[in-house]
Amino acid sequence: MPGHPATNTTEFRALQAAFAGQLILPSDPEYDRARQVHNGMIDRRPALIAACNGTADIVDALGFATGQGMEIAVRGGGHNVGGRAVCDDGIMIDLSGMKGIWVDPATRRVRAEAGVTWGEFNRATQLHGLATTGGAVGSTGIAGLTLGGGFGYLMGRHGLTIDNLTSARMVTSDGRVVTASAHENPELFWGLRGGGGNFGIVSSFEYQLHPVGPEIAGGLIAFDIADIGQVLEYAAWLVDNPDDDLTAVVSLTHAPDGSGRKLAAMLVAHFGTAAQSDKALARIRALARPVIDRLGPISYCALNGLLDPGFPRGALNYWKSVFVADLDDRVRTILAEQFRACPSAMSKLIVERPHGAALRQAPSATAFPHRAPGYSILVLGQWAGAGDSEENMFWVRETADRLRAYANAGAYGNYLAEDEFDTRLGESFGDNLGRLRALKGEYDPENIFHHNLNIAPEAQRGQG
Ligand SMILES: Cc1cc2nc3c(=O)[nH]c(=O)nc-3n(C[C@H](O)[C@H](O)[C@H](O)COP(=O)(O)OP(=O)(O)OC[C@H]3O[C@@H](n4cnc5c(N)ncnc54)[C@H](O)[C@@H]3O)c2cc1C
Repeated sequence: MPGHPATNTTEFRALQAAFAGQLILPSDPEYDRARQVHNGMIDRRPALIAACNGTADIVDALGFATGQGMEIAVRGGGHNVGGRAVCDDGIMIDLSGMKGIWVDPATRRVRAEAGVTWGEFNRATQLHGLATTGGAVGSTGIAGLTLGGGFGYLMGRHGLTIDNLTSARMVTSDGRVVTASAHENPELFWGLRGGGGNFGIVSSFEYQLHPVGPEIAGGLIAFDIADIGQVLEYAAWLVDNPDDDLTAVVSLTHAPDGSGRKLAAMLVAHFGTAAQSDKALARIRALARPVIDRLGPISYCALNGLLDPGFPRGALNYWKSVFVADLDDRVRTILAEQFRACPSAMSKLIVERPHGAALRQAPSATAFPHRAPGYSILVLGQWAGAGDSEENMFWVRETADRLRAYANAGAYGNYLAEDEFDTRLGESFGDNLGRLRALKGEYDPENIFHHNLNIAPEAQRGQG
């Protein structure tokens, strides 16, 4: 296959001479591995993968790409199910090798580069008994998760991931390196906290950390699916009995032993005192007779690794996100009926409840607008064989459509499949969308960063 014309120019040779990371072409042996993202449904072939080593590499790769008029995709952890971290024909600016993490125990701050995953982040910060709200699967990237909001076990106590972001360093569309924080470029800082990768390429993030663990209380508990009523009843009970120290995520899932048995499970984390967590865990254990009971003392890192085996890289994924205000009888019936009909033992219905500190911000305080009480339901389709795609995607669509009849008209952008990126924009950004469009016009008026949950600047609206 002939190379892309852009990679046969003097500008490309100049990039090669300066680049500290690796420039990977389709003819290189690493190419097929490097272009893969987490979701095996995504099969795109960029003309060039610029595997960056630092901010200067990002600036040079971006300058080269804009000079050559190439499509640009930016990859952090590569986990987003929408798959926009990679594009066809253009350049993938790949940050996944940028792994620097600098913890300052004195100020309880950490700066982490954009290729760090949550597993790596927790491992480094837990050396100092510190943590911040982050993703529940170790291989998820901090970059995309942070830019989209960030749900995690600590959200009741410390808010979303973005509520703990103190600054970000970003390369702008015209190659400047800027800092965004409460004091520098505050409007950009507002937009980066929920507005995704629309404004530029973030090279590193700085977060506030908090004393956590290393041992906390929690783990996995699972009941037979016949007990789904008690589990959802408990999730609803928590609304009137709030506990910022407790996060309990309901997962309608399948037995980890491969038997395909359907379970009503809960992932639990409690960050309070031993007496408080004993009481909270005892209440959960008493809901019904557990099939699996792995609740107890657990290290924070181990808790955040519990789900990892259930999300193998390369599995086929198709997800949808729905927010509902209540887990009323109608919603519970849909969840039970749809899960019974779920065609893949790798799929799940996950019910999360942003609570406590995550709801103490106004919807307009950051670009992430979903600060009202309620539930985020993730319809998580995951399977192994391409021949099963139609059946599984049908199930995801049907489940989401049924739930949307009772939904809040909200969606978590980080959980969306690509086919809803255009239609669910309003649901993802709510009343913040207009302000985000204005910011986009300021930082990326040509919309060169459009391989994402794209907010076109006002001037380009209607042009696709
Ligand atoms: C198995 C699994 C578990 C998950 N668990 C959670 C969870 O517990 N909580 C939660 O909130 N979410 C969770 N998510 C969703 C997750 O937040 C998103 O998939 C997120 O986008 C992943 O970030 P990434 O860097 O890995 O993704 P990528 O696919 O690399 O990037 C996602 C988007 O962000 C853009 N982007 C990435 N890095 C940058 C950057 N440095 N600068 C500018 N733009 C950038 C990309 O261009 C792309 O459009 C999970 C996803 C998976 C697949």
